[in-house]
Amino acid sequence: MRYSGLKVLAEGLRGNKGWGAAWRKPDPKPEYDVIIIGGGGHGLSTAYYLAKNHGITNIAVLEKGYIGSGNIGRNTTIVRANYYMPGNSEFYSHSLKLWEGLEAELNYNVMHSQRGQLVLCHSDGQRDTLARRGNAMINQGDDAELWTREQVREEVPYLDFEQTRFPIYGGLMHWRGGTARHDAVAWGYARGADARGVDLIENCEVTGIDIDGGVVRGVQTTRGAIRAKKVAIVVAGRSSQVAAMAGMRLPIESHVLQAFVTEGLKPVIDHVISFGMGHFYISQSDKGGLVFGGDIDFYASYASRGNLPMVEHVMEAGMTLMPMIGRAKVLRSWGGIMDMTPDGSPIIDKTPVQGLYLDAGWNYGGFKAVPASGWCMAHLMATDTPHEVARRFRLDRFRTGHTIDEEGTGSQHNLH
Ligand SMILES: Cc1cc2nc3c(=O)[nH]c(=O)nc-3n(C[C@H](O)[C@H](O)[C@H](O)COP(=O)(O)OP(=O)(O)OC[C@H]3O[C@@H](n4cnc5c(N)ncnc54)[C@H](O)[C@@H]3O)c2cc1C
Repeated sequence: MRYSGLKVLAEGLRGNKGWGAAWRKPDPKPEYDVIIIGGGGHGLSTAYYLAKNHGITNIAVLEKGYIGSGNIGRNTTIVRANYYMPGNSEFYSHSLKLWEGLEAELNYNVMHSQRGQLVLCHSDGQRDTLARRGNAMINQGDDAELWTREQVREEVPYLDFEQTRFPIYGGLMHWRGGTARHDAVAWGYARGADARGVDLIENCEVTGIDIDGGVVRGVQTTRGAIRAKKVAIVVAGRSSQVAAMAGMRLPIESHVLQAFVTEGLKPVIDHVISFGMGHFYISQSDKGGLVFGGDIDFYASYASRGNLPMVEHVMEAGMTLMPMIGRAKVLRSWGGIMDMTPDGSPIIDKTPVQGLYLDAGWNYGGFKAVPASGWCMAHLMATDTPHEVARRFRLDRFRTGHTIDEEGTGSQHNLH
């Protein structure tokens, strides 16, 4: 079923009786060509692009909860391509281009809003760093504008420009950055994959990976054994646990990241604003809630709720940057489990087990990566060669020393 304005109108007149379910609820078959473990954004987009770009449709996505129950439905929805390091730069640039055509591609309103992302700086040294980052973004073909303090004040007058601890020196504006509705991205890819024949199996936890002679043969699940020629581990915060089922120990630590949303307010924050000194970022949802967050909780955990010290820290940082926020009431907070790599960059690679692939290590920045991650993972699984823009995301880079240490994207072990 194609969605359109005309369809909405027609259904409105007919009492909305003609809408079908967005995807089927099939029982698992005994065997598939490809099994994807994890029905989050990355697993679903991998299935979608395997079907769409490579014609592989005998696929099952196995999700232990329901579609959208993981980080894909828990993040603060920021989409941007403002990376500096070779490897990340071309990958996130590719992802942003896919975002720009995503709604037409999926025939689904993911509410992608390019409202601009502003990263603030608070010293001469930081401004130099932002200038260098902006030049790298422009060289990559993306957009960046270095703003003076006066330009920032004109566009975002409600920041506290008088504070002495972190005076605002200027900022880097990335106009093509913005937000999207997180769970709609999962639903859009789910619907698109299902329409191409992919089986989305919810409430189906993978409990073991069957390997024979160094070759993957299938998986054990709470709904029985399922055979497959190729298996992908795409489970974000659970990556280490699922990889351990195949005897692997990953360079990944899981940490909780919390987010907060206030009551709905009239439009006040037009852009996404990032305040690196306070580990704080904020935007306003289309419903009016201020959506904000900060750093990860500093201990490893698989709990999807955080603790009070980080709540306090985030509130303090918000008040430091924009004291007016103190008058808003926080309605909800929640957490998600982050798969933190030592260099803050992801892994899209084969594993030592033949037919077993890994897409992980998205740290706290994997939402914006969903389109390109699926695109590149599908390419890897279909052709057994890495996609050009993801070729540096190798699993063995921590052994060989080819790390992609992008400050501000992942765990900083000296700090945690
Ligand atoms: C509070 C917060 C804010 C964030 N903000 C941003 C942001 O602004 N911008 C950005 O780019 N990124 C952000 N992120 C990060 C982003 O959400 C994640 O990096 C990304 O969603 C992870 O990939 P995913 O969508 O595939 O994960 P998930 O949705 O977590 O998918 C993994 C799935 O695997 C399933 N699974 C796990 N184990 C098994 C098993 N054994 N069997 C079957 N299924 C299993 C899980 O149930 C889950 O549904 C944020 C994250 C959080 C928590």
